[in-house]
Amino acid sequence: MRTIDHHIAGAAASAGGGGAAREGGRGGDVYDPNTGQVQARVTLGTAADLDRAVAAAQAAQPGWAATNPQRRARVMFRFKELVEREMEALARLLSSEHGKVIADSRGDIQRGLEVIEFACGIPHLLKGEYTQGAGPGIDVFSMRQPLGIGAGITPFNFPAMIPMWMFGVAIACGNAFLLKPSERDPSVPVRLAELMLEAGAPEGILQVVHGDKEMVDAILDHPAIAAVSFVGSSDIAHYVYRRGVDAGKRVQAMGGAKNHGIVMPDADLDQVVADLAGAAFGSAGERCMALPVVVPVGEQTAERLRDKLIPAIRSLRVGVSADAEAHYGPVVNAAHKKRVEEWIGTAVEEGAELVVDGRGFTLQGHEKGFFVGPTLLDRVTPQMRSYQEEIFGPVLQIVRAPDFDSALRLPSAHQYGNGVAIFTRNGHAAREFAARVNVGMVGINVPIPVPIAYHSFGGWKRSAFGDVNQHGTEGVRFWTKVKTVTQRWPDGSALPSGSEDGGPSRVQDAFVIPTMG
Ligand code: NAD
Repeated sequence: MRTIDHHIAGAAASAGGGGAAREGGRGGDVYDPNTGQVQARVTLGTAADLDRAVAAAQAAQPGWAATNPQRRARVMFRFKELVEREMEALARLLSSEHGKVIADSRGDIQRGLEVIEFACGIPHLLKGEYTQGAGPGIDVFSMRQPLGIGAGITPFNFPAMIPMWMFGVAIACGNAFLLKPSERDPSVPVRLAELMLEAGAPEGILQVVHGDKEMVDAILDHPAIAAVSFVGSSDIAHYVYRRGVDAGKRVQAMGGAKNHGIVMPDADLDQVVADLAGAAFGSAGERCMALPVVVPVGEQTAERLRDKLIPAIRSLRVGVSADAEAHYGPVVNAAHKKRVEEWIGTAVEEGAELVVDGRGFTLQGHEKGFFVGPTLLDRVTPQMRSYQEEIFGPVLQIVRAPDFDSALRLPSAHQYGNGVAIFTRNGHAAREFAARVNVGMVGINVPIPVPIAYHSFGGWKRSAFGDVNQHGTEGVRFWTKVKTVTQRWPDGSALPSGSEDGGPSRVQDAFVIPTMG
């Protein structure tokens, strides 16, 4: 059976990288969700593995930080070319461990590459501020310096995009980066580290350490790691945030989601149904920016929308992830399939109307695969647990709202505040909605409003802990610290300083907070 090793100091264990799955060490199963079979074992690392990676990072980072930003950008340009060269192989590998269809796997990689493209502009992004003549003979300037060693802990659902969100910006800024990817689909992250090396990043600048809670805790407690970026479920995000901050680190921790799509009576319902099919069921609903709740405004809108949704959902093709005709593939593992089906059961017990039932779905020839059929629930209410919690499966819930204000209140009051969308032809309604809704990312007639790489990604409420978003200039802010220099170059002939050059003119002035006046 194939073993997926750490990638430490430029090499996998088998090639002498020090990441060996030691005899007696722990390992985890990596499944092919299409067949339900274990296809590989991943090494689950320890604090000792992390120490080796940190040592390599410490050796490499000062030189990398001293490499001028234009040269660091050139590594990013080459990395982008290499990933593009390998796109098909990477998409197949990703799909085989995650279960999302190949086209969606390409999208996962492409959205990450867009952050790499952004990072190619790092020389411009790192320019500081400068004030000439802030006081007599005094100039003030600021510079952005890397933090040193940063770490990223990432979820299973975007094994290419989310690591690239983080390491693209962190590395371009001059940091060394340790990636702890999801243990469920760890192969693509390792391949990305190999390609970064091939692109010219020194050994130790991008390393991959695999593991579960043990490795995460080791990262959070490690004194040499200055910052941690986390994306995953909310309870763990909150835990990572607290423990990381307690250890004195800078932490951003993105959590779960329950995104709503508000459908106004004047919306183009055919377009909405087409958008919902992709946004609620694409990637089997395993996206933090999926749209699993639809809120039609008014009973008539609800009835018309439901009539159109039912045939659209029934016609979705669930297939193996390599099936080019499939709309979506299996969910990630057996436990998750069970959990999604249990949530459907809970919704029914709570009084929701089960309109299309995806439980018990099997795909002929792949009976052991982790497939869940598309599911539609109507008459869901805010009191139901199945509404309050994230299901993260191919399940769409209809929550009916009588008017605009009630519709606006639903996502605003929900514990999660990642994304939200409104479908309408009324510019005023859309504008009001965007201004007033208590959610971090808003789509107007756009079902999955994931911001482009040069803007930034981040939810509100329990969808994100910490106050700095991913990528864009926010990402640069997260992965750097500002140093501000106040300088004075007195004319040598005027020393010791007199009042002309802004220095203390009398002894007691030295004891007063300096002003520039
Ligand atoms: P997860 O929380 O189970 O795992 C995320 C990471 O945390 C993994 O690397 C995992 O190894 C680690 N981890 C798991 N259990 C841990 C524990 N007890 N202690 C410490 N670390 C632990 O999430 P997942 O199932 O891989 O991903 C799906 C979740 O991620 C969903 O909730 C989804 O909404 C969320 N997500 C959020 C965003 C966002 O940007 N807000 C993006 C993608 C996914």
